[in-house]
This record gives sequence, C-alpha cells and structure tokens, in this order.
Amino acid sequence: MKGKSTERPLVLTGLQPSAGVQLGNFLGAIRSWVSLQESMECLFFLADMHAITVPQEPDQLRTNTLDCVAMYLACGIDPEKSQIFIQSQVFGHAELAWILACSTAIGQLERMTQFKDKSARKESESVGAGLLYYPLLMAADILLYDADYVPTGEDQKQHVELTRDVAEHFNRRYSPTFTVPKPLISNACARVMSLQNPFAKMSKSDPNPLGVVFLTDSDAQIQKKFRSAVTDSGREVRALPEKPGICNLLEILCGLTGEPVEELEVHYASASYAEFKGAVAAAAVATIGPIREKFFELRQKKDFLLAVLERGRKTAQEQALSTLSKVYRKVGFLEK
Ligand code: ATP
Ligand code: MG
Repeated sequence: MKGKSTERPLVLTGLQPSAGVQLGNFLGAIRSWVSLQESMECLFFLADMHAITVPQEPDQLRTNTLDCVAMYLACGIDPEKSQIFIQSQVFGHAELAWILACSTAIGQLERMTQFKDKSARKESESVGAGLLYYPLLMAADILLYDADYVPTGEDQKQHVELTRDVAEHFNRRYSPTFTVPKPLISNACARVMSLQNPFAKMSKSDPNPLGVVFLTDSDAQIQKKFRSAVTDSGREVRALPEKPGICNLLEILCGLTGEPVEELEVHYASASYAEFKGAVAAAAVATIGPIREKFFELRQKKDFLLAVLERGRKTAQEQALSTLSKVYRKVGFLEK
C-alpha cells in the first residue's frame, strides 16, 4: 500500500451492501473505479456498518454483502490489482469515527443533504442516530487509510468535504496526522435520477421498485422499468429544463453508450417517447446482461469470494491499526 511498495496515489471507495447494486451505482461510481485500478492503488470496501443506519434483515444483509463482492468482480474490479474488504471485518472504523465525533458540531451533521433526505422519509422519533453520525463513519473510513482520492457520485461529495474539514481540524488541533482527501467525481452520469421521480436520485433503498434498475434485473424487468419511466408532457426528445424525465433518460443513454447528449437529441429528433425509451432500455440490457451473467457465475464460487475478502481484510487491517495507534497516542490515550 501507499508508502510501502508504491508511490501511486491511494483511492478508497465503497458502497453499502444494503440491497443489490443499481444502475446509478454503476454509471456514477463502479465503472470509473474499474479504470482507476490501472493508475492508482485501490481499496474497495463494502460498507455494511453504513448499511445498518437504516433497518436491515440480518440474513439478507449477509447475502447482500456477498452479492456485492461478486458484483464488484462482475463489473471488472480485479482482485489481483485491488483490495476488496468488508468494513465490519476491520477493527478501527468505529473507533476513529468516535474520536472524530467528539470534535464535530451536531449542526455540521444536520446540514448534510443525505441526512435530510433519508430522515425526511421517516417520522422524526424513528430517525436513527446512526443516520446523523454516518458522515463521521465515512470520514473514518477514508482517513484510516490515508486515501488521497475518494471516487464518488455527486451525492457523496458533501460528505467528502466534511471529511476534509474534520481532517484539517484534527491536524491543526494535534499535529499533521491525516492526509486530506479529494473527491473524484466522474463527469459522466454523476447523478442518475429515479425513473419514477426525476427529482430524486436513483437509490437502491428507494421504496418504489420501478424507479430503480438493478444490475441483477432480467432483460424483461429492465425493459418494463424503462417503459414505465415518467416522462413529461410534450413529445420531443430534448434536454430541456422543463423535461427532467427526458433529461435523465438522455443522461442514462449517454452514460451507457458514450454518445454525447447533443448527438442523442439529433439522433432521436423524430422518435416518439416510446421509441426513445425502447432505445434506452435496449442499451441498458446490452450493458447489464453480460454483467448479470458474470455475477451469477461468480456468486456460485463462495470460497473464492471469501479468499478475496480475507486477503483484502489483512491488508486493510494492517494500515488501519497503524493509523489508529497514531491517533490514540495524539489524543492522549495511554499506550498498551
Ligand atoms: P442507499 O439508498 O442505500 O444510500 P445508494 O444507491 O445511494 O444506496 P450507496 O451505497 O450509498 O448507494 O452509494 C454507492 C456509490 O454509488 C457512491 O459512490 C454513490 O455516490 C454512488 N451513487 C449512488 N447513487 C447514485 C446515482 N443515482 N447516480 C450516480 N451515482 C450514485
Ligand atoms: Mg447512498
């Protein structure tokens, strides 16, 4: 890892194994992780401790976690080039998050958009404290490994900014300790919106299943979801502000095919909404189909997946303990 075998920048990123992997995760995040492996040291993790900020069925969470590992690999994450690990299997994340929490104001956390969005879906008494605390755990995830870059979708950018603030604060209060990380937002498809509500981002925890396309969906399910995607009044396929549904579909098609939105507008100038949606669905099927097949093949190989995870855990744990002991010393905890 950084400072040892190589001087390549270190990137760390992950997703919550709270449900399957959705198209927004792929276009906005995982796809760019695959190419980053060529130029950077990469740590990819499964944020199961983040996943429990909203209620999870225990058995389902275990299954989803292995599903996500298989999905990372099916999407092109290469365990020979990168490390993959599970957050809860590495000691130190929660410990560091606690230390960071003790010097963070509640107001800073209450301003986070994700907290506001996710807590708005619930009655205020049932909003878990973990949802508020989430960005601090994320800061700990990043700072434990001295990550230089955090590739992420637009939705997590605010959390990376908070991580920078928290790191700078600690470095000032004690002495230079943490690398201050930078967000890495890929330009294409930084924010895929729900197919049922173009004002809300596509998210695997969306209660409306028609709004989210999962990478495990069958071709028929994918087609159905795009067929029933909300569009707008009017009939022209144009990226106009008054057409958020069409804009989202154009962005998705651009993300899937690499064709710029302006060219797609010309290409579909005389198409009906139904024809256009059919074309987006076809492009999604062409991308997702092979990933889904590979996923089902890998998911059978449980021993292989566990071996990949164990290798990742060992590497991650070594680095995490080294950072944590440094932090413990600086804050004044007595050494063992
Ligand atoms: P949840 O609803 O449980 O928060 P999620 O679908 O938002 O799930 P995460 O695990 O929180 O998924 O995020 C994984 C990665 O995918 C992050 O880097 C995030 O920025 C990115 N991402 C999530 N949703 C989208 C989206 N709609 N468009 C682009 N990128 C996204
Ligand atoms: Mg999310």
